[in-house]
Amino acid sequence: PRQFFVGGNFKMNGTIKSIKDIISGLNDAKLDGETEVVISPPSLYLLLARENLKKGIEVAAQNVFDKPNGAFTGEISVEQLKDSGITWTILGHSERRTLLAETDDFVASKTKVATDGGLSVILCCGETLEQREAGTTTDVVTSQLKAVADKISDWSKIVIAYEPIWAIGTGKVASTEQAQEVHAAIRKWLSDAVSSDAAEATRILYGGSVSEKNCVELAKQPDIDGFLVGGASLKPAFYDIINAKA
Ligand code: 13P
Repeated sequence: PRQFFVGGNFKMNGTIKSIKDIISGLNDAKLDGETEVVISPPSLYLLLARENLKKGIEVAAQNVFDKPNGAFTGEISVEQLKDSGITWTILGHSERRTLLAETDDFVASKTKVATDGGLSVILCCGETLEQREAGTTTDVVTSQLKAVADKISDWSKIVIAYEPIWAIGTGKVASTEQAQEVHAAIRKWLSDAVSSDAAEATRILYGGSVSEKNCVELAKQPDIDGFLVGGASLKPAFYDIINAKA
């Protein structure tokens, strides 16, 4: 069985004080010990999070660069994250793909360097509303993932996050059927393109307006193995989402 996984993507939110408050809330909350929990504050606060979190909660960067070191102003390397006790990174979030023009190939290259360097990766994929309405959701998502499969064969350090762009920050959650359908298609793609073992073992998270209200139904779907949470990860609702399977 795949261990349930809940990630909190803080995006560009928070201050030293508010992030310390979130961390002490998490340290004190009653959380399902069966759920793997990872939080992803802005890079400036990664160390603060690492130093203050308890209970085996891990910390993820929101991005990493695909070169080991050198003249890359503004970027952070895999080694620097590991040196700071950061064991995960999010990659390929739709906000970076859209606003910062990250291509499938660049995301794949960073995924390779991160996993080769020993980081675990939350690899995001997802379609726009136009693509969904055109019936191309599966093609879009699998081509985003294929760019990664072209560069790597070991998926053991990757968790996939399916995040339909139209559901992110909109309050418009995908229905349980819509989410399950895409998750099953991703798992079938893993089986065909990578291996049946990878399909069986890889966690596929849902992201996009996950809340304390919709998480329990979503978590019951056979191919939904957890969540990548944005807005609600900044609030106590996050505890309920971590406990969605309890
Ligand atoms: P929201 O939960 O705020 O919709 O954000 C989802 C997301 O983008 C997580 O990475």
